[in-house]
Amino acid sequence: MIGIYGGTFDPVHYGHLRTAVEIKALFKLSEVRLIPCARPPHRDAPMTDAEQRLTMLHLALDGQPGLIVDDCEIRRKGPSYTIDTLVHLKTLVVSEALILFMGTDAFAGIDKWYQWQRLLDYAHIVVITRPGYQMPRPTQENFGAHWVSERAQLETDQAGKVYFQTLTQLDISATAIRTLLQQGQDARFLLPDKVLNFIQQHHLYQATPFNLEK
Ligand code: ATP
Repeated sequence: MIGIYGGTFDPVHYGHLRTAVEIKALFKLSEVRLIPCARPPHRDAPMTDAEQRLTMLHLALDGQPGLIVDDCEIRRKGPSYTIDTLVHLKTLVVSEALILFMGTDAFAGIDKWYQWQRLLDYAHIVVITRPGYQMPRPTQENFGAHWVSERAQLETDQAGKVYFQTLTQLDISATAIRTLLQQGQDARFLLPDKVLNFIQQHHLYQATPFNLEK
């Protein structure tokens, strides 16, 4: 089975990276593909451009076997719809079963995703509990009928099931990191030093010191 872990990664941080390591081991995945979106359909535009977010992911995952940066959404034109990514991976790239991983925050709005009802035709979904977010209740809007209670139940089918997994809870968000950096504060140990160095070298996430527009 292959893990798919999408996001804005603006910037990538230890919440993402620890999640990738733990899911790879727990679900015995042959690889985890971290897929930065080009243009997120459901949120504000990222503060950095796609190539910079991609570079930060490469810096973070350099030399980590089985954790792969996949740039398919950045190379594709238009908004980054997850259903398009799953169809692309399933039909062109991989023959193994896919598991789509997302945090409870992302899953809470799953019924707003483009063609969300088709997602389970191509993959299982595993929801990762995230600090500060409640576990959802089963409803028609979150695939309630497809929830399973045992991890092993994912192994019997190629797709179509939803499972909840608790991992090490790291209360780190890219938003909080961006805020620290905008305020000129220290963000060390929330993300890899290599990524932080890149951010500093390229003056990313800094508040504009004055209004340049006249
Ligand atoms: P932002 O604060 O800008 O919204 P984020 O930190 O939530 O960013 P994203 O790139 O939006 O990061 O998230 C990508 C995926 O990683 C989502 O499924 C999200 O739920 C999950 N995720 C982000 N941070 C954590 C964390 N600390 N622990 C577990 N999952 C996380």
